[in-house]
Formats: sequence, C-alpha cells, structure tokens
Amino acid sequence: MDKRVAVLLAAVCVTSTAFGQVRDQHSIDGVVAALNAPLSAEAIAQARQYDDQLLSQGRDSTQRVYLVTDERSRRVNDLVRKLLTAMGQDPKAWAVRVLDTNPQTNNAFVVGGEYVYVFTGFLGAAQSDDELAFVLGHELGHSLLKHNERRRNDSVMQLSQIAVLIAALSKGKTAQEFGQFGEVFGAQYGQKDEAEADALGAAIALRAGFDPLRGADFFTRMVKENDAAAPGATLTEAQLQSMRLQATQAQNTCAQSMTAWNAGQIARTPPNADKVNKVCADAETARLSFNKANTEFYDAQTQASLQKLTSSHPSNQSRVATLAATADFLGGRRDLASLSKYETAYIVMQALDTTHSVLLQPADVTSAPPMVQTDKPMPQDGVTARLEKLKGAFDAGLITRDEYDATRKALLTEL
Ligand SMILES: [Zn+2]
Repeated sequence: MDKRVAVLLAAVCVTSTAFGQVRDQHSIDGVVAALNAPLSAEAIAQARQYDDQLLSQGRDSTQRVYLVTDERSRRVNDLVRKLLTAMGQDPKAWAVRVLDTNPQTNNAFVVGGEYVYVFTGFLGAAQSDDELAFVLGHELGHSLLKHNERRRNDSVMQLSQIAVLIAALSKGKTAQEFGQFGEVFGAQYGQKDEAEADALGAAIALRAGFDPLRGADFFTRMVKENDAAAPGATLTEAQLQSMRLQATQAQNTCAQSMTAWNAGQIARTPPNADKVNKVCADAETARLSFNKANTEFYDAQTQASLQKLTSSHPSNQSRVATLAATADFLGGRRDLASLSKYETAYIVMQALDTTHSVLLQPADVTSAPPMVQTDKPMPQDGVTARLEKLKGAFDAGLITRDEYDATRKALLTEL
C-alpha cells in the first residue's frame, strides 16, 4: 500500500463516524440524519481528484473515455439543471459530464455530491426524458441520502476500494479500474438503499416536471431485454488481441508480396501470381474474421455492463406499485399515513416531511422559462431549402445518384 492510499483511507475513516449515532440507518431517524448531514469535505475532494484523473487520462489499452460536448451534453445538462433546481440545489455548483466509451457503457452515477456522470450508452438506451429524469433522480437520491458514506459505515473495508481506485487511476490503469469504479458506486447498494433512492428519485423527477412512473419503464425494459439476450461471446481479450496481431501480420505480408511483385523482385510466373493472390486472400479472411470477433466481443461487453446496471436495480411489480403510491402521495392524491404499507417509501417521505424538504413543496411555476415562439418556415420554403441541400450533398459526392434521385422524388411529392 503506498502513501497516497494510506492517507485517503485515513480520510475515509474520519467521515465514517458522521452517521455513527443512529442505530438503524434505514429508520426515519437514520434517513433524517443522512438528509441533514452535509457531504464531507473528504468525499468532495476525492470526487474532484477522481474527475481530474479521469479527464486527464481518460483512456487505456482496452477502453477510451471521451468527454462529449455536443447536443447530447446540452440535453443532459438541461435535464440535470431541472432536477437540481427541483431539489433546491444550485446547479452551478455541479459538474455534469457526458462520457462516450468503446464499448458502450450503459450507466449513470453521481459522485461526491457535485459530479454527475452520464454515459452515452445509457442515453442510447433511455427512450424518453422521463426515463432519463427518473434514473438520474434515483442516482441523485443515492447522493442526497449519502449512501456511499453510510455504506462505508457498514464496512470500512469496502471504502478502501475508492482510495485504491484513485491510486490506480493515478498510475494510468483507467479501463479496468473504471469498471470497478462503477461497481463501487453502483452495484453494492443494498435493497433498502435502492428503495430509498427510488422514493427520492420519484419526488425529484415529479417536482422537476417529469413522470416517474413512465421513467421507471427504463428498468423494466432493461430487465426484459436482459432476460431475452443471447449468451455473450466466449472469446477472451487476449484471444482477440492475438487475432488482431495475426490479421495485421497477414496484411503486412500481403503488402510486401505485392510490392515485390510490382517491383519485379518475384519472377512473374502464373504459380507466383497464385501465391501472391493467396497470401492477400488469407490476409483479407483474417481481417474479416477479426472484425467479426471484435464486434461480438464488444457486444458482449455492452451486454455485461447492462447486466451490471439491471442486476443492482431489480424491477418487479412491488417496485412499480410503490412508485405509483409514492407518486400519488406526492401529487396530493393520498395522505402520508396511507403510504405506511410501503415501508421504505413511507420512511423516506416522513423524513422529507421532518426536514421540511423542498421536495414536498409545490414546484414554483413562476420560475418556469417563458414559452418561446418559433417562426416555422412555410412548408414550401422548407422543401426548397432541403432540395438545395440535397443537390449540394450530391455535388460534393456525399450521396450516390440513386440516393439523390430517390430523396429528390420524395421531397417533390411534399410540394
Ligand atoms: Zn440505485
């Protein structure tokens, strides 16, 4: 263990005393204590350190992590801003990162109370803003309830993983450790943690103007897809790398043979021509089979990350029923006492009530952004502009004559 890990471990042990006074972490008192506790400076410092490492070294030999700054980032930022505003938080204090990976990672999590990470694989899997809002509300719920720090309280050993992880990242082992990171912050929550995060997530999403019940469809669908998925590829990473090497070598041999043939260094006889052709045909076969294996390998990895997410967020009928009841309470359609048979949701709502949480207050409609009038172009203008664009694309060689003709015909029928 190096010095850095030792120092971080010490920090972790200090923070773990914050919830020590409450016996049952999942009682009303426990949840109230968690909601009232500020995030420790150490947790924030660790999250910042992790973020710095991730962005400065976001890659290794197997997985690269790219920061996304395009339209997808704006969509997520807009949505998270609504959720944070609903929580009474200042969105400016939070960093929201959209990350692209290869293979796609279907995950989202919140670290240190001020960093939200959303992977493009998750954006691709979510089918509506309600789903994005509920899942992110749920993750923000884990953060509000300090689940990471409370879990540390249960077992200080688990906590040390975060410190080890940061140390590993600083040595550049991003990909593998990054996978572990997801586990540290996701898969180890207990069922009660998950139920608490659901209740809070529903309150956050609803107050921000989203439908938490529709949002919960995300988990239901993921579980269904998971059940239906075929077993993953059986190739190992090492086998894949060996195939890549073979394909590259075969292509080099082909290129060398062609060069020698063209330069007249090989006698130009029909048998020699056959040999050169055979070498190059083999190279092509090796390239194609590597590509196929590569796709299968990464599909299987994507599937594995999906399983990781869904296994920690089981979807079942009681979850849906609890969410429906919670949404009814939050919407004023039933009273708090009637929620008592949904134990965890009841406890969380009681705790929100005790702490006078903003989440139980009606949303401030006056702060909603004004409606913007958009000037819609006349349909005919739209078609004309699109025809011009199409012609431009054809002239630039971006589309074929057939594509040009077919699209032009379709556009003209709109006139
Ligand atoms: Zn969760």
